Amino acid sequence: MSRKQGSSPEAGLEPDLTRLLSNAACSAGWALESVSHEGDRTLLAVRREDLSFTAWVRAASDEPCFARSGAWSVGYRGELPRGGDLLLQHLAAALAAVPTPPPEVKAGPTLIFGTDQLEIRVTLACNEHCVFCNSWLGADNLTVDLASAVSLLEQARSMGTRKLVISGGEPLLVPWLPQLTAEARRLGFSYICLQTNAVQAGLAPSRLRRPHPRLGQGIADGDPRSDPTRSAFPADGPLSPSDAPWALLEATAPDEVLVSAHGSTPDVLAAVTRRSDLARAHLDGLIHLLESGFRVIVNFVVCRQNVEDLPRFVEFLARQSRPPFLLSVSFVAPIGLAWENRNETMLRYSDAAAAVLSALRLARDLGLQAVLPEFCGIPTCVLPELREFADPADEKRPIHVPPDKTAIPACGNCPWKPRCSGVFRRYLEMFGGI
Ligand code: SF4
Repeated sequence: MSRKQGSSPEAGLEPDLTRLLSNAACSAGWALESVSHEGDRTLLAVRREDLSFTAWVRAASDEPCFARSGAWSVGYRGELPRGGDLLLQHLAAALAAVPTPPPEVKAGPTLIFGTDQLEIRVTLACNEHCVFCNSWLGADNLTVDLASAVSLLEQARSMGTRKLVISGGEPLLVPWLPQLTAEARRLGFSYICLQTNAVQAGLAPSRLRRPHPRLGQGIADGDPRSDPTRSAFPADGPLSPSDAPWALLEATAPDEVLVSAHGSTPDVLAAVTRRSDLARAHLDGLIHLLESGFRVIVNFVVCRQNVEDLPRFVEFLARQSRPPFLLSVSFVAPIGLAWENRNETMLRYSDAAAAVLSALRLARDLGLQAVLPEFCGIPTCVLPELREFADPADEKRPIHVPPDKTAIPACGNCPWKPRCSGVFRRYLEMFGGI
């Protein structure tokens, strides 16, 4: 749900270096089409006739790569097309003469674009492997130990920030979360949101597995909790929270938990998270979080794999005894793995807009508060009725067009322009228009 997850065309490399790499690509018979930046990695989109792929360069590290060259590592994404190896050799040769990579340490932490919130990533490790993961390939504000995380918090507080979002990977795999939030409180953070996929909250050693005490006991007919379809796995009932991850969560004591939940059935979850073995834990973790009194925001990212499941997911949420504080329905953004997997994951706004609107209305009818977030939503011009659910429609803070999005010609006279962050450049690149 991050708003700073994008890469910025022409950003990340000094112009001279961009020119050097462009010339190197050219000497190998390839054209450098665009440069973008993801975490500590600079991505180079290259093309030769009908062949294209993404090469990358970064400060040399132990990470496997195609070539090490001086202070640099050179690699590529996906399959290497014919002649791609020659391009990579030319890039490596060009970089050998460049003694120092661009500085990796920024002047300060990056705030979520257009907000005063700090989002830090405490790990990139995750127990799921979502087809649209935006952090798998690297991320800003990555801090993998408590000391460097606290240092980031201190810098952010000196900038006046009081809101902290803890993200990953999966943050609940990190044992020092409670110390981190304790430090954040001490430093004066007044709002802490923990993002999670809920799997840890749903995993339990088999000795702890038992039907939830409220299921099937003392529940009157007609009570929605007696509905056997309430759990996606009614035969077994939900799991009890396991001791260690649950204790970690409670000790972390976030003000809000944002659960990334992208399907209501094992099949849909398997297609999105690619961990069918954890589908049960995923959904039961969500149920446990809802029932345990945490203030829960559920973030459902619409993609090709789950768009048809959205109404079922809304009904699943509405059946819970404690519904979420908010359901945020996002639209898959062409960032990270979603871009890598774009042909199987991305879909056109117009192919999903009616289904999203219908699901948002269903949620409202069932008593759920549901929104379409601005940055990862659907532009209003695609389906104006979506504006009813726009977030933050009523806020006064200005909306900016971030570097990885752009205005389109229709924006010129558009009445929604002051509340619209535009269209992803990569979306336009993929579909040729809105
Ligand atoms: S500002 Fe542009 S992208 Fe946004 S709704 Fe209007 S026309 Fe669409």
